[in-house]
Amino acid sequence: MTALTYRYCALTDVGLRRTNNQDSGYASPRMLVLADGMGGAAAGDLASAITMEALREIDRDLDPEADGTVLDALTEAVSIANHRLGEVIRDNPLVEGMGTTLDAMYWDGEKLGVAHIGDSRIYRFRGGKLTQISVDHTYVQSLIDEGRLTPAEARVHPHRSLLLRAILGRDDLEPDFTWLQPAAGDRYLLCSDGLSDMVQDEVIERSLRLETIDLSATELVRAALEGGGLDNVTVVLAEFVALSEPLEESLSCADGRPQVVGSAAENPQPRTGLVSSESNEALEPRPPSTPVDPEELRYAPRPAPRFRWIRITASVLAIVLGTAAATAFAYDWSQKQYFVADYDGTVAIYRGVDANLPGLSLNSVEQTTRIDLDTLPTYSRQQVEGGITATSLDDAKRIVDNLSSQVREPAPTPRPTPELTTVPTSPASPEPGDS
Ligand code: CA
Repeated sequence: MTALTYRYCALTDVGLRRTNNQDSGYASPRMLVLADGMGGAAAGDLASAITMEALREIDRDLDPEADGTVLDALTEAVSIANHRLGEVIRDNPLVEGMGTTLDAMYWDGEKLGVAHIGDSRIYRFRGGKLTQISVDHTYVQSLIDEGRLTPAEARVHPHRSLLLRAILGRDDLEPDFTWLQPAAGDRYLLCSDGLSDMVQDEVIERSLRLETIDLSATELVRAALEGGGLDNVTVVLAEFVALSEPLEESLSCADGRPQVVGSAAENPQPRTGLVSSESNEALEPRPPSTPVDPEELRYAPRPAPRFRWIRITASVLAIVLGTAAATAFAYDWSQKQYFVADYDGTVAIYRGVDANLPGLSLNSVEQTTRIDLDTLPTYSRQQVEGGITATSLDDAKRIVDNLSSQVREPAPTPRPTPELTTVPTSPASPEPGDS
């Protein structure tokens, strides 16, 4: 196998609508990283810069004994970034809600370790064809996966930028990690949604055919601005070549130095009273008439392992967004969730989430069982009383089966069975038109 190396470049533009850049990009002989911060003017740039810093700390000669593989190092760095975000949020409650996407590739000399979370994208350009390598962690992608939306419909969906996963400083961090095997001639593109939302894949593919990656990067950013430039646009590009191939001096990476662009290059600080008085302005309460920047509302709730989060995220979404569309979205989302809970002293499967919003019921009984709560061990009974989140109706049935196997027969009475009975349910509220 030919020994490979790569050329790299990173380029960003604040775009035509935004006043600050919340994207961070980084390219070096070992690493390619892109982070798209969210949380509005308050903290998106800070979130992406903190994350970028944690990633840059592992851009060094790794010690295989202490650091493991490049993928191990990436895993650790993402976890550290998440931890630091959590600490900053704890210390500065005003930046609550900040977060960032992340795409990171780490070259070990033979293959690429890859970390991905959010909706920033990784594309591979090989043999003249463009392929999206990363899978968006978005609401619309989940609808595409369920066959309820086509990719073309997703591009214009009103909730296309709602994220289901991001680095948020919380303990439900869930990035994707994988290995990629590059070949000579491959080009890899990491980009923020400021590119992929503005520019069709065909245009990206065409731009990647240009002679050098420097030219491609310039063309991609130009195309995003021409497409509207509604968001910060950042591209990080790499081209794999044989190690023996001479490096063109005209390339921006010819000096071998890392390239840092966007907010990571600007050293943003948490804007609170602890830092400086003049920068507090960004965090002053918003006058009621100021339109909400959709970028601040990027993160969407999803079924979390712990029941508590279902309640919190569903309620927070509707309350924070406070719009009809958001409430409709919250309702629509909630009606695809299931949980097992107490129904008049018995175990039942509910559709929805265990939370209700003013004027909007978010759950209804889907199926009842004959399992009395009193026949369950204390721990299981308490779990049911608190509600047990299920990932699907089948999962809810499995939970019920499991509970039924724990039933303690009090006396010679017959053992209750988990027989499920579908009960007629009437939606407590009209189905919103949005889906
Ligand atoms: Ca963005």
